[in-house]
Amino acid sequence: MTALSSPLQANPERFWQTVEVSAGIGVGRPGGLARVALNDDDRRMRDQFVQWCREAGCTVTVDAIGNIFARRPGRDESLPPVMVGSHLDTQVNGGRYDGILGVLSGLELVRTLNDQGIETPRPVEIVSWTNEEGARFSPPMVASGVFAGAYALDWALDRTDDDGRRLGDELDRIGYRGDAPVGQRPVDAYFELHIEQGPLLDAAGIDVGVVTHGYAAHGVIVEVTGETAHTGPWPMDKRRNAIVGASMLAVAANDIGWRYHDSGGKGTASRLVAWPNKPGILSDWAQFTGDFRHEDPARADAMLAEFREAMAQAVERSKCEMRELDHWSWRPDIFDADCIAAVRDTAARLGLASMDIASQAGHDAYFMARVAPTAMIFTPCRDGITHNNHEHATLERSLPGVNVLLNVAAERALR
Ligand SMILES: [Zn+2]
Repeated sequence: MTALSSPLQANPERFWQTVEVSAGIGVGRPGGLARVALNDDDRRMRDQFVQWCREAGCTVTVDAIGNIFARRPGRDESLPPVMVGSHLDTQVNGGRYDGILGVLSGLELVRTLNDQGIETPRPVEIVSWTNEEGARFSPPMVASGVFAGAYALDWALDRTDDDGRRLGDELDRIGYRGDAPVGQRPVDAYFELHIEQGPLLDAAGIDVGVVTHGYAAHGVIVEVTGETAHTGPWPMDKRRNAIVGASMLAVAANDIGWRYHDSGGKGTASRLVAWPNKPGILSDWAQFTGDFRHEDPARADAMLAEFREAMAQAVERSKCEMRELDHWSWRPDIFDADCIAAVRDTAARLGLASMDIASQAGHDAYFMARVAPTAMIFTPCRDGITHNNHEHATLERSLPGVNVLLNVAAERALR
């Protein structure tokens, strides 16, 4: 039995028009976006999103870390809201769909409920999380992490970008440091629609992915300290070149990925920076960022342990000092069985083929799963290409997932 007399259907043109407006804000390489968190384009996109939500009758609040909540009231405002959303920030070479489809399908949910004049007992909230990508301020998903109590607010506001600008100051600069407390309130359920960021749905010709679990992941940032010296006269056996130490870590991370390749593991060196990083001089400082992911949490832990062993060897070989500045991790077995089943059943009820799938990327849903029953819906992206300006999704293949989201969330709010 369902509470809706007939299934909700998104308005395809209206939904895709919002995606196209977003695709014009913060244009990066051809076809892509460079809407990095809290830059001026992020502000413009936030302003546009807030305007759309207010026009749809929502009350908009912004919390102290810039998360935006657009609330469609329920008949009983004392009930916790059903929340849907994702993120509007992108990577430096990001696509037009990563995160964006999840937020804008939340907007389409509210607009569709309005069209049908459907009142729900529970409020419905659309959320756009701050700095999901971590492209500018590390770590990723920092603001949903604060919402879920995984990170302290002050610590998160103190994160700095490469130019030393604080996340909190940048929120002030763009006018999005709100006064609502971060988290500390009940959420009935959280649903996040996202492009798959992998090739499985596209290859299978199936449009709806029922996300059953995630990959376990560990991310690390290591600081490497050496000593500057002249590249000519300084003897090899006295060198403490931080670039060499950090490079050993990069190779080790990649080698670990290959050791677990057969079982789907990934080891990544994603970032190396050094100082002075100039010709003619050894660098005395470097920083390495990498991550390790595996479907099996025990093997993800083993990959991290192997990396730490490799780090000890790199200390000996490079004669540099190394210390872990930061470590973040998430576990996979987090999504709610009832919410997963609701996504799967809704797809079937709408006559849509779906497949169960694991999420290999990190998502705000991982943190939300700590505080509310949570599930995710994946939609296809061409060849799985993402974090790349060639990321590509179509209305035709996104719409089935959007319709699943609309109906799952509406049914939940109608309870
Ligand atoms: Zn994303």
